[in-house]
Amino acid sequence: MRMSAYFLPTLKENPAEAQVVSHRLMLRAGMLRQSSAGIYSWLPLGLRVLRRIENIVRQEQNAIGCQEVLMPTIQPADLWRESDRYDDYGPEMLRIRDRHDRDMLYGPTNEEQITDIFRGDVRSYKDLPKLLYHIQWKFRDEIRPRFGVMRGREFLMKDAYSFDLDGDSARRSYNKMFVSYLRTYARLGLQAIPMRADTGPIGGDMSHEFIILADTGESEVACHKALIEVDWANREIDFEGDLQPIIDEFTSKYAATDEERDPAAEAALGDDLLVARGIEVGHIFYFGTKYSKPMGAVVTGPDGEEITVEMGSYGIGVSRLVAAIIEASHDDAGIVWPESVAPFKVGLINLKTDDGACAAACDDLYGKLTGAGVEVLYDDRDLRAGGKFADMDLIGLPWQVIVGPRGLKEGRVELKNRRTGDRQEVALDEVFGRLTA
Ligand code: ATP
Ligand code: MG
Repeated sequence: MRMSAYFLPTLKENPAEAQVVSHRLMLRAGMLRQSSAGIYSWLPLGLRVLRRIENIVRQEQNAIGCQEVLMPTIQPADLWRESDRYDDYGPEMLRIRDRHDRDMLYGPTNEEQITDIFRGDVRSYKDLPKLLYHIQWKFRDEIRPRFGVMRGREFLMKDAYSFDLDGDSARRSYNKMFVSYLRTYARLGLQAIPMRADTGPIGGDMSHEFIILADTGESEVACHKALIEVDWANREIDFEGDLQPIIDEFTSKYAATDEERDPAAEAALGDDLLVARGIEVGHIFYFGTKYSKPMGAVVTGPDGEEITVEMGSYGIGVSRLVAAIIEASHDDAGIVWPESVAPFKVGLINLKTDDGACAAACDDLYGKLTGAGVEVLYDDRDLRAGGKFADMDLIGLPWQVIVGPRGLKEGRVELKNRRTGDRQEVALDEVFGRLTA
């Protein structure tokens, strides 16, 4: 993408309305703009990151046999009356009436909708287990939307649902999802810690939140220090095998969200206790028959008997993750994207656009890299070098290639690693190899 044509409205000044660094940087980097409180439009750069995250989440769900569906954003109130949540959900639910005076709502979550789909078409124990998910916008009329997409009213969530014949099998589904989450966050460049959590209005028996530690986190959490050092990125996992040992590795160590904290357990940890602020990036629940029972989601068992299915639900805050990753990865100059979610891999800076040799070298490298499938944002704008450097650092692409007339005379350009700040002089004809290795 040529920056001269790209819609990338960066800002030099910090917007007054942004209280946390991720919100500030998202506005300054031209990633998004507010529509109304807690509701945002995503601009091209922001949308690229959102899609990257969404795709990693999708791949990891598919990898455990969870199948993608797409449920609507608008749901009929009657479904929520069946589970008795229509009134319980309170003012966070955006209620809508259609032209026929039917009560509808903008879905804050989809337990009822998926249970309805399941009961309509699944009849036999032979069809279980089933794991289904979708990635869809949700609406919750939060009392205090704040921190940009961190706590929005409209937000993108991946929510998955499991259907099993009995508790043991439901536990296996829960474990699969638990481990798959650890892998998902590792791929996003995050160290997410699973913590025992309150089940809240979803209800149920077993629940974990996945928390990343950041000063701007909305709640205080506590855990064993060892949990922040577990390396997930390179583990081979057999999802059909017994996952309980991996789960135990985490759950045997103390980790609790604010509602679940246990002063005695914390005192016993001594120096191993870590108390910090955390951002919730995912939440999983096992809730048994809480929805299947009132809604009649049953299958026929081996002996012809009727069995009410056991369910769980599993959420990941996809749009919140964009902000959470920035909270975890930025410096004074701007965002530092992990390569897996970066909107482009390379920023190519032409320092002198009116110099024929610079333009030719940049055009050539840009063509070759994009031809090889490397995503490049090419700063071909007629601007001063300082502004170009500042913008490129702000938007945080992992690699910068800086092409200027002086270096070019000797066949050299500069290659900068955004994370380490390391700058190297590299021969022009080696850059392609370095960036495609
Ligand atoms: P919170 O405690 O932050 O209000 P929640 O427990 O109500 O979240 P869940 O129902 O567990 O949220 O939703 C699953 C995930 O969706 C959360 O882990 C979070 O990452 C994300 N999420 C929830 N509410 C919001 C919101 N208002 N804005 C952005 N993301 C959200
Ligand atoms: Mg939650």
